[in-house]
Amino acid sequence: MRPWSKAPPGIAQSRVLLLLILLLCGTFTLADTIPSFSGTNSGTVTGGSASQFHWEYGYGLSLANGVLTVGVDIVFEWDPSITDTQKEAAKQTWKNGITGAWNGMYELIKDDTYHIPIIFVVNFGGDPYTVHVSPGAHGQAGAKTTMTNWHIEDWGLVAAHEFGHMLGLYDEYTTGAIDPSGHFPAYDPSSLMGSVDGFPPPTLYERHFLGIRDWVDSHDPTGEDWELHRVPEPVSLVLFASGFCVVAVARRRLKR
Ligand SMILES: [Zn+2]
Repeated sequence: MRPWSKAPPGIAQSRVLLLLILLLCGTFTLADTIPSFSGTNSGTVTGGSASQFHWEYGYGLSLANGVLTVGVDIVFEWDPSITDTQKEAAKQTWKNGITGAWNGMYELIKDDTYHIPIIFVVNFGGDPYTVHVSPGAHGQAGAKTTMTNWHIEDWGLVAAHEFGHMLGLYDEYTTGAIDPSGHFPAYDPSSLMGSVDGFPPPTLYERHFLGIRDWVDSHDPTGEDWELHRVPEPVSLVLFASGFCVVAVARRRLKR
């Protein structure tokens, strides 16, 4: 006898049906509550203690299937001395640096219920950003990388910092393009916008995602409030789970 025919026929089928109904309900509820929309967020930023820095930012946003995708397109203009091998290696380093720093940090929560991941995508080969790439590295022989002038040996955090400017963010170190209004901090070395040193690695805070949150808030046709929430790090998740296990074991022991 075939082992899978042992169960009475009705049970397996009703389970599948129940699962289908649950999945459909879930899909419809999600679609009902979270609309899909897309567009661009662009503007001009003035920064610096004497408002001496000006730049334009622009990025695409798309909310679909419960995920918010934020996309930036960059075209590189390479110094002629840079080889194809160097270009490919640098593009990989920068892409990893950008997605590693930005993805999985914050999510949006709608109606206190639906968690919307924010996924950052960088596409090398399209407008609106043209970045000139020179030999050397940021900080070497007085070289200074800016949003549109990078160096071939720039490490991933440098690209991730400049990517922040492409999202419209200020610097958070005193000589940089800081927020002239003082609303955002002028000095925070723990922030990616304040430092690109890897030790300890700088992080991102809720303030760095506010522009994205505000855009979604103002474009949501249902007009609901959206909140930012820091995604727990895998380590905290493991700690939380192990704490839960310890409590569970302790409770069992108490019951004995
Ligand atoms: Zn900067």
